[in-house]
Amino acid sequence: MTQTLETWEGFHKPGRQRVLPGTKEEDSFAWSYDMASSNNQLYLQTLLRAKRFDIDVLLEQPQQMDELTWLYEHMRQICIELGLYISVVHRECTEKQCPIMRAQDTTYYCAGHGSPRPCSAIGYAVHTLDYAVKQLSQGDTSLKHFQSMVRRLYRIFAHVYFHHRQVFETQETATYLYARFVRLARKYELAPESQIIIPELPTTV
Ligand SMILES: [Zn+2]
Ligand SMILES: [Zn+2]
Repeated sequence: MTQTLETWEGFHKPGRQRVLPGTKEEDSFAWSYDMASSNNQLYLQTLLRAKRFDIDVLLEQPQQMDELTWLYEHMRQICIELGLYISVVHRECTEKQCPIMRAQDTTYYCAGHGSPRPCSAIGYAVHTLDYAVKQLSQGDTSLKHFQSMVRRLYRIFAHVYFHHRQVFETQETATYLYARFVRLARKYELAPESQIIIPELPTTV
């Protein structure tokens, strides 16, 4: 038998249903790009409010949705939350602080322009997210698109992990966003293991 949202919501444990620090509930998903909302999006966001910290449940594909649709909804939601995430990271990841986008010793070019070019870390994050959102809103939703999108977005998390560890840990504890992202990437084989360079966390295994 498939669980319904009603049973999930009635089931949630007190204290587990948190929103992002310093964010009012109604503003939690306020990073609005010009992306049409849908019942599928509403379904996922409702599920997130009840089950943000239960990644297995979050990733379970609903019977009424096909694989690509479900993946699309997750990617869209991750992009919405990444907008908030980047605004928090920006408090210490500035053009001056991190003039080159890198993770450990690897430098990454920014593909959010006509041709790839070096950008600051925060520039890379913003441009790459904008590019991903643009692709999603245009309906570029083949597995191939998702693979390159995930590869590029992953580097944002990697930069934060290796260069702003405190921010990474605070954000991850509050949101499980990276854990959800990497589990999604693995489930749909969107990123080779060699590119997953952040060490395993208890929530990612
Ligand atoms: Zn930085
Ligand atoms: Zn750029």
